[in-house]
Amino acid sequence: ATIIETRNIQKTYRMGVEEVQALKSINITINRGEYVAFMGPSGSGKSTLMNIIGCLDTPTAGTYTLNQKLVSDMSENELAEVRNKEIGFVFQTFNLLPRASCLENVALPLIYAGYGKAERSEKAFLALKSVGLEDRVHHKPNELSGGQRQRVAIARALVNDPSIILADEPTGNLDSKTSYDIMDLFHELHQKGNTIIMVTHEDDIAHYAHRVIRLRDGLVESDNVNPSPTTGK
Ligand code: ADP
Ligand code: ADP
Repeated sequence: ATIIETRNIQKTYRMGVEEVQALKSINITINRGEYVAFMGPSGSGKSTLMNIIGCLDTPTAGTYTLNQKLVSDMSENELAEVRNKEIGFVFQTFNLLPRASCLENVALPLIYAGYGKAERSEKAFLALKSVGLEDRVHHKPNELSGGQRQRVAIARALVNDPSIILADEPTGNLDSKTSYDIMDLFHELHQKGNTIIMVTHEDDIAHYAHRVIRLRDGLVESDNVNPSPTTGK
């Protein structure tokens, strides 16, 4: 089943009298359960497209359908609601709250979702357990390694049971051994049926994905199935 469909998506940024056409016409269809890597040189439009797919921004023209909802025409409030329900974000810099425990960090999206405290703690604990951090729930982020911090961020992305996991350079701040550990975890999540979309600059990281889409100058340059993706341990 189709989960993401973009039709002739364009994005133009205006800065005074100047215009930058960051996306010229993007047509992409992604099915539930796919594992996709976006690649492309700096300035090719990856962040712009990820922001649109993640419902953080809307296109200037064209349509974007996420899980059968037409999101390209939505208001800020409607977008925020779809985002909180449908998307789990993972960032290069982890974006954890430094003063909050792992459990509190992971439970955060559940506050937006309206769950009570007991249920939040229970769900957050299970999410941390699913990434192998059940013995770190009361630690603060600065008491953890980079790889562990990214696991906390992944648990936070998963806690709401989102339709898609959007990962922007998830291994960008990790050494290579830790990067492969995180990719092993992504592999596991994909095996469990999660839909994963990540941006990466690194070929060996992109090679874990089952499909690689390359952008150039605001257009899809290539869109290829990876015949033999790297698998986890
Ligand atoms: P990538 O993520 O592949 O590096 P971006 O989506 O960040 O590419 O950028 C695509 C183009 O849009 C670039 O020319 C960039 O300078 C421009 N751009 C991105 N964001 C903005 C913005 N907020 N305002 C103006 N121009 C932008
Ligand atoms: P709102 O105020 O509409 O609830 P928030 O800023 O609290 O929006 O964020 C809602 C969701 O969007 C959260 O899951 C958060 O992780 C994500 N989010 C917020 N800002 C960004 C950003 N700049 N890039 C990616 N994800 C973001």
